[in-house]
Amino acid sequence: MPMLDLARGHLETDEALVAKAAGLDRAYGARHPAEILAATLVDLFPGQVALVTSFGADSAVLLHLAAAVDPAVPVIFVDTSRHFSQTLAYRDRLVAHLGLTDIRNVGPTGDEIAANDPVLALAERDPDACCGFRKVGPLARALQPFAASISGRKRHQAATRAGLSVFEAEGGLIKVNPLAAWAAADLAAYARAHDLPAHPLVAEGYPSIGCAPCTSPVAAGEDARAGRWRNFSKIECGIHRPAEAPAAARTGT
Ligand code: SF4
Repeated sequence: MPMLDLARGHLETDEALVAKAAGLDRAYGARHPAEILAATLVDLFPGQVALVTSFGADSAVLLHLAAAVDPAVPVIFVDTSRHFSQTLAYRDRLVAHLGLTDIRNVGPTGDEIAANDPVLALAERDPDACCGFRKVGPLARALQPFAASISGRKRHQAATRAGLSVFEAEGGLIKVNPLAAWAAADLAAYARAHDLPAHPLVAEGYPSIGCAPCTSPVAAGEDARAGRWRNFSKIECGIHRPAEAPAAARTGT
């Protein structure tokens, strides 16, 4: 029995949304990221799509591409209240640099923090629960008005993302991953060509950056995301569904 996504006011069944994503993937999935973003923002989901970013190590490329199409695109940042201060400063610098005009900082309420993590120990004790109330819940609330979201995930990042499609159906939305096919070298070349500011922690050995309690530097030869939830088997924060999830994979947001 197909479920209706009545919470968003859409009457598309899960099956219909999956079929829609597959059709969009066939039509647009092989195009350049700039064309995918233009189609998404202007033709497919005008006024109905938000870009979700962590203002992490790779975020500048997607934000630059999106700003070139529409600097007023809604940009959602989940401020867990546990980010590095460098990430918050980088967010402000990048927003000013790119001229983005609709930044939506969302996160857990004070009451939620008091109820779930009053002494800031939950990340060490139960990171799934911590991500649940600090990231997953606030992002779901922020995405309620939208029919689609844009993420910066790439296939090369992890085994859990190797099967990533450009257009997916997830959580009642179409999820668009314009950079899915780009390799690390493509991202670096784009950032150099456009002189994009880098997250300051990248130079300090953090190739993947999440919350401060759950992110550590990565040694030479380690997976780029080996520093995320280093002492746990956790591989994703919960806001993305793994495309495939081998037990040995160790990657993250
Ligand atoms: S990444 Fe760590 S601190 Fe951030 S929400 Fe998840 S468990 Fe909590």
